[in-house]
Amino acid sequence: RNEGLGSWPARRARKTPGRTALLHEGAPTSYAALHERTTRLGHALREAGVRRGDRVAYLGPNHPSFLETFFAAGLLGAVFVPLNTRLAAPEIAYQLMDSGTSVLVHSPAQAAVVDELRGAVDLRRTVTVGPEYEDLLAASSRDPVDEPVGGDEVGLIMYTSGTTGRPKGAMLTHANLTWNAVNVLVDSDLTADEVALVSAPLFHTAALNMLTLPVLLKGGACVLTGSFDPDATLDLIEEHRVTFMFGVPAMYSRLAGRPRWQQADLSSLRTLTCGGAPVPGSLIETYQRRGLSFLQGYGMTEAAPGALFLDAEHAVSKGGSAGVPHFFSEVRVARPDLTPVDVGETGEVVVRGPHVMPGYWGLPEESAVAFTDGWFRTGDAARIDSDGYVTIVDRLKDMIISGGENIYPAEVENALLAHPDIAECAVIGVPDDEWGEVGRAVVVPREGAAPDPAGILTSLAGRLAKYKIPKTLVVAGELPRTASGKLLKQQVRARYGAL
Ligand code: ATP
Ligand code: MG
Repeated sequence: RNEGLGSWPARRARKTPGRTALLHEGAPTSYAALHERTTRLGHALREAGVRRGDRVAYLGPNHPSFLETFFAAGLLGAVFVPLNTRLAAPEIAYQLMDSGTSVLVHSPAQAAVVDELRGAVDLRRTVTVGPEYEDLLAASSRDPVDEPVGGDEVGLIMYTSGTTGRPKGAMLTHANLTWNAVNVLVDSDLTADEVALVSAPLFHTAALNMLTLPVLLKGGACVLTGSFDPDATLDLIEEHRVTFMFGVPAMYSRLAGRPRWQQADLSSLRTLTCGGAPVPGSLIETYQRRGLSFLQGYGMTEAAPGALFLDAEHAVSKGGSAGVPHFFSEVRVARPDLTPVDVGETGEVVVRGPHVMPGYWGLPEESAVAFTDGWFRTGDAARIDSDGYVTIVDRLKDMIISGGENIYPAEVENALLAHPDIAECAVIGVPDDEWGEVGRAVVVPREGAAPDPAGILTSLAGRLAKYKIPKTLVVAGELPRTASGKLLKQQVRARYGAL
C-alpha cells in the first residue's frame, strides 16, 4: 500500500500523460515528464545516500525543480524541507541544522548564500538547479522507484511564516497533505481544466497546499512564477487564461492598484482564493466592482493549512467571513476552557482533523502547549454567526488593551483602508500612562496623496467606537512584510512603537 505523495506524478502520468502539469517561463512540463524527471531525481537522491526519514531541503524561488524535489523526496519516504529565500544566511543555516538536512537543492541565485553556509552546516550534497541538476537527472535511471510510503510518515517539514517570532517547523504527514488537498477539491469547483497561477512562494503553505497540490491531484496546470509582480501577473492572466489564483490580501491589493487593472481581461478568472491575513472589506468591494469575489480561506501551516473555507455559493452573501470548516475538518471558536462561544462573542479558533500536524519538529514543549484535548490552538480571535460562518478578527497576540477595552487592530486597519489617501496601514499599541495602551496608526499613502493625519483620524469618528480610534498617526514609506506579503507587526512595533 502506497499512500505517499511521491506517487502522485506516476498516478497522474497513468491517467493524463500528455496534459501540462507545470508551466514556467513559457516551458511546459507534462505529467509524463514530471513523472520521469521525479523518478530520475528519486534515484539520484538515493545514490546521494538519502533514505527513508532523511531530510532533503530546497532553496529557491518557484520553479519546476521545487516540485520535482518535493515528489522525489516523497518517493523515497524522505522528508522535504522548503526554505524561505528571504532569510539571511545564518537563519537558513539554523533551519538546515534544526531540520538535520543532508541534501540541499538550490537555485543558481542562491549559490553565494549556500557557499557562505558550507562551513557552518554539515551537508552531504548540494545540487544547483541548471546544468548540474539536469546532468544528474540524465545520468539516473528511469525505472520505477518502488518504495511504499505510509500516510502517517512525515513528508514535509514546513516552517511557519515567522510573522510572530522565529519560524517553527511544522511536521506534516503524507495523510495530512492528502486530506487537505481532498478538502480543497471537495469544497471548491476545481476541474481538470484549471490553469492556476502560482506566484505566491511555494515555500509557504498556501501556494503549495491550497493551490498547487490540489490542482496537480486533479490534473490541471500550474503556471509558476519566481516572484509576484502585479503587471506581469495581469499579463500572465491574459496570456494563459488563468482560472485560479491564490493571494494574501496585500497581493490582491497591489494588483488592483495598477493602472492596467481596469482594462485587463480578467474574464478567464473563476476562483480567487484569498487568505493568510485579515481580508479588508474595501478590498472585497474593489473586486466585486470588477465582478470578482473572493473565496476566503483561513488556515495555518500547522493545519496543512485549510481549516475554514468560504465557497463560491456564499462568497457574496457571507463575504468577509472565512466561511465554515472544510469537509474533513473541525473548527471551534472557543472560550479559554474550550467550550464554544455564543453567537457574537469573540473567542480563540481551535482546529482538529486529519489534516492537522502531529507536532513541531524538535520542539516537544511548543508542541505540547499547542494542543489541548487534540485541538490545535491557533492564537487567532474570531466570531461566529447564527449560520455557523466564522469571521476572523485578528491574532490574539496583536490585540491592544486600552482602558480595559479590547481593540483588534485589523478592524481599525479595515476602517483606515477605506480612506482614499491610504494604500497600506498597520495599527499597533503603544504604552500610555492613562490608558495602559493606545492605538497608533502607521500608514503608507497612495501614490500622489498627501495625507493629513488629523483629518484621517477624525474621519474614523462615525465608523469606529471612540476608544478604537488611534491616538496618533505616522506616515511611512513602506511596511515590513514577510515573503508572502504578511505584515510583520513585531517589526512595525519595533520601528514605530517608540516615536
Ligand atoms: P508564525 O506562526 O511563524 O508567527 P504565521 O502564523 O503567519 O507565522 P502561517 O502558518 O503562514 O504562519 O499563517 C497562519 C496565520 O495566518 C493564522 O494563524 C492567522 O493568524 C493568519 N490567517 C490565515 N488566514 C487568515 C484569514 N483568512 N484571515 C485572517 N487571518 C488569517
Ligand atoms: Mg502561526
